[in-house]
Amino acid sequence: MAHGAWRCMYCDDSLGTDIDHFQPLKLAPLRAFVWANHLLACSNCNSNSKRDQYPLASDGTCLLIDPTTEDPADHLVLMLRTGVYGHLTDKGEATIDVFHLNRPDLVAGRKDAYCTARSVILSWYEMRSDGDPDADSTAKALLRSPFVDVVYAMARLAPHVAEAVIGARFVPAVQQWRSVYGTVPAARVQTARIGAP
Ligand SMILES: [Zn+2]
Repeated sequence: MAHGAWRCMYCDDSLGTDIDHFQPLKLAPLRAFVWANHLLACSNCNSNSKRDQYPLASDGTCLLIDPTTEDPADHLVLMLRTGVYGHLTDKGEATIDVFHLNRPDLVAGRKDAYCTARSVILSWYEMRSDGDPDADSTAKALLRSPFVDVVYAMARLAPHVAEAVIGARFVPAVQQWRSVYGTVPAARVQTARIGAP
């Protein structure tokens, strides 16, 4: 279910090394072998941040974003220039808090990823315009990189704010990128379409 190169489904940075039980075994032992309750995570997000936390809203629903069924963009907004996540909903706020999504290493990584992604997307755009057969490989390499959430946040920028955020010279490239690769990771689209096995 994870997109990219088996990255952690929570931070999009480290390789997924652990299987997190989204609903903790301590609270739901009968869900130990339920496929949809198994999320690929890094040890930092799983063991250091989330652990057995599973905050609930007053109506009993989970306050964590489930990346297998929900689009994090409905709850979170990424400030591309600073690398910091803000929240749009209570669920977004709880998710940032539980997974420490604004810890310094992630914020710094997203800032670097934004600089790189902007250049790679412009390069991809020029290669594509020139008919370079390696353009698609360049794009796929970016989509397998850490912090691919930065790339999707760029693709989601509304046209009227894109110029102010990423700069006028990058806007046509990002618009074409969006038309080819979309605004949601392919793995998430596929999971939503077929459901968990
Ligand atoms: Zn992680």
